[in-house]
Amino acid sequence: MTKRVPVKRRKKVSYDGKKADKAIKYCESCNRCWETDHMQKNINHYKDFPTYKKERKVCMLCKKIKGAHVS
Ligand SMILES: [Zn+2]
Repeated sequence: MTKRVPVKRRKKVSYDGKKADKAIKYCESCNRCWETDHMQKNINHYKDFPTYKKERKVCMLCKKIKGAHVS
């Protein structure tokens, strides 16, 4: 007996600007917008960035300054 495995169709993952914009947070500690790259190794700050409706989250840089561990 052989089981028939349904073939899953893979949807194409699209990386557009809107998606990247969602990852941008706003740091209330240094008053800047920021985001990490996909490897979460580097952090980018955006000085002149609209903070409207951005998620409030202290950036890694400020966490490090405060001595908190960044996982
Ligand atoms: Zn910060």
